[in-house]
Amino acid sequence: MIKQSKQPFDASTIPNDLCPIAVKPNPMLPGDWRSLRPVVDRDKCVKCAVCWLYCPVQCVVEKPAWFDFDLATCKGCGICMRECPHGAITMVEEAA
Ligand code: SF4
Ligand code: SF4
Repeated sequence: MIKQSKQPFDASTIPNDLCPIAVKPNPMLPGDWRSLRPVVDRDKCVKCAVCWLYCPVQCVVEKPAWFDFDLATCKGCGICMRECPHGAITMVEEAA
């Protein structure tokens, strides 16, 4: 049998909040720091849902005749604008 020179590390001595960034959710939402926001031209939108399909944070929401965005969680990446086949989405600067 191999004899250990040191006692095994006791993981129970590590506090649960040793790294608070990893264990405490940040209350900020992307809408708090986004620099650009998507705006839909309702006359151009044909409700094809391509923006909904590509949005990485799933913040595209369905409206009766177009698709819109949950601006609390939209991070302003612009993927929806690039993928919209009808050029219905424009990225505009957030007001200061
Ligand atoms: S991809 Fe463009 S046309 Fe299609 S639902 Fe979204 S905004 Fe409308
Ligand atoms: S800008 Fe990015 S996060 Fe916001 S709706 Fe478009 S794809 Fe989603």
